[in-house]
Amino acid sequence: MGRGSDALNVLLREERRFAPSAAFVTRANARDREIYGRAGADPEAYWAEWAGELDWFERWHTVVEWDPPHAKWFVGGKLNATYNCLDRHVSGGRRNKAALIWEGEPGDRRTYTYWDLHRETSKFANVLKGLGVRRGDRVAIYLPMIPEAVIAMLACARIGAPHSVVFGGFSPDSLSDRIQDAQAKVLITADGGYRRGQVVPLKANADRGLERSASIEHVVVIARGGGISGETGVHMKQGRDHWYHELMDDASPVCEAEAVDAEDLLYILYTSGTTGKPKGVVHTTGGYLTQVYATTKLVFDLKEDDVYWCTADVGWVTGHSYIVYGPLANGATVLMYEGAPDWPDRGRLWTLCETYGVTVFYTAPTAIRAFMRWGEEWPGRHDLSRLRLLGTVGEPINPEAWMWYHRVIGGERCPIVDTWWQTETGAIMITPLPGITETKPGSATLPFPGVFADVMNQGGESVNAGFLALTRPWPAMLRTIYGDDQRYRDQYWSKWPDLYFTGDGAKRDEDGYFWLLGRVDDVLNVAGHRVGTMEVESALVAHPAVAEAAVVGKAHEIKGQAIAAFVTLKEGHRALDGLADELKEHVVEKIGAIARPEAILFTADLPKTRSGKIMRRLLRDIAEGRALGDTTTLADPAVVEQLKRRYEEKEV
Ligand code: ATP
Ligand code: MG
Repeated sequence: MGRGSDALNVLLREERRFAPSAAFVTRANARDREIYGRAGADPEAYWAEWAGELDWFERWHTVVEWDPPHAKWFVGGKLNATYNCLDRHVSGGRRNKAALIWEGEPGDRRTYTYWDLHRETSKFANVLKGLGVRRGDRVAIYLPMIPEAVIAMLACARIGAPHSVVFGGFSPDSLSDRIQDAQAKVLITADGGYRRGQVVPLKANADRGLERSASIEHVVVIARGGGISGETGVHMKQGRDHWYHELMDDASPVCEAEAVDAEDLLYILYTSGTTGKPKGVVHTTGGYLTQVYATTKLVFDLKEDDVYWCTADVGWVTGHSYIVYGPLANGATVLMYEGAPDWPDRGRLWTLCETYGVTVFYTAPTAIRAFMRWGEEWPGRHDLSRLRLLGTVGEPINPEAWMWYHRVIGGERCPIVDTWWQTETGAIMITPLPGITETKPGSATLPFPGVFADVMNQGGESVNAGFLALTRPWPAMLRTIYGDDQRYRDQYWSKWPDLYFTGDGAKRDEDGYFWLLGRVDDVLNVAGHRVGTMEVESALVAHPAVAEAAVVGKAHEIKGQAIAAFVTLKEGHRALDGLADELKEHVVEKIGAIARPEAILFTADLPKTRSGKIMRRLLRDIAEGRALGDTTTLADPAVVEQLKRRYEEKEV
């Protein structure tokens, strides 16, 4: 197996193993392996059981209708996502339980109980109705990480109006592209938000975006913290723009949750744009809510008294599924933080963990690599002993970053759940179950019960290393690309008949564990060997001086491609003469001569998406001396321009 020319070569070996502790297992929500067998034997019955833990206004008649490449789940069922996130807790015992604990970057705090959140959401739902928003109308949300972002999403869901959340760090053009694509009728924004002590002038950005967004009839503006408007001099356009607090003053707190169809749109969300133009991913209600509910409960092992913190922005799918819908459907206490992790200092996240007694912490490899770079002293100054479970999502995690997270943040006590999924999958797909799965640093381990994945070659045969495929429909899967079903078919369903192509490379080990090797667009082709980026980067990150690395292939006369590596060092390490050679040797030692980087460029920053993912396609453009491709989703375009100049200077 796995010898075809399109299969990936496997280089990295990882022998470390971490079994859940007896103490963790005893209390775990999932501790019986039998769940895998049960879900595998009858996935429909299994998912229906999960759906049964939600509140439905009308029960479905068919669990799944699969008409490839389109699936419908819980057909005929009627429910409301907000009702499941709020009303059912308010009528139960969680009425005055903290649903949302929020801290602003300047240090201001607010806590919303489930009842508070229910009241605010109902009022805002009435506000939206008052502005003419009807079931099915799209509402764009462009906000900082403030509680009103959650309220706005839930208010939309309450009246059956799909939301399209646009990350508050996006430019006016990116906002208007997304508004136009979705033909949104109302925009919800704020005067500003705090980032590294500065006010981001959100309304001013929105105004520029609105110049080309004819579909918008009304704009609701939240006065973040009250004081910002004065500083940024917000302009309110008469008749179009309204202050949130003024509209809320007159709004009734009574608003029945609309009984929507299980297959009605819950939201549209655009992908990060790591590989190209973002795709407007469509999620519907019943299946999505079922899977985010189930995964939150088992993967994060949520207990009634947990304080759960996912550091993602609500503008990304992780924020949708694991700040809002999953945790609130479970009745959890969610911590939300507005600002930057290094403001006012690099210990801010650990101060927050200590202050609020965070027990479950979910973040991204990009953040973990930044923590590693900043040094252990920052977390070292805080009491993190309440943490009991750690999670990661967004990119492959290099085994050394995993080990650092385990030791420094987790105190060698917390299981780590490395969760693989995508905007398109809506919910976690490949992940450990923390009370069952023995973990291996760098592996996302096994498909969640009821999820079916395989590693395949071009021809659709199962191989040890190749393309990651999803082989059966799952409840939270995207239903289409908004307004472009052909792109949906081409992008995900054209490689093999009726199998979903993820775009990621993966290998499977002798225990059946999945290891994500990087995006297939980024695969290196060295002397006839196809190598994923993750293994070479992991070898580099295993060197004590290295915090982060990105490798790309560049055309080479003899080998086809040679490896160019872009490397960021840990604080306190300098790119002394000889370090580049040392790193090349280090890679050879770790994984073999075939992976020896030909060129290494040290850099303080790598080009990343606004969600923090490394954009290798731009590094490839640099290494091959091409004009840079689409940079609209870059966090900081200056980084890549600078890198390009430096690379060219070195080359000359
Ligand atoms: P675009 O599709 O527009 O290029 P994107 O793929 O970055 O953007 P997302 O949906 O935010 O958009 O990211 C999903 C991708 O992130 C996955 O396909 C995978 O490449 C990567 N990823 C997420 N979680 C993990 C993980 N635990 N391990 C490895 N890779 C991961
Ligand atoms: Mg993608």
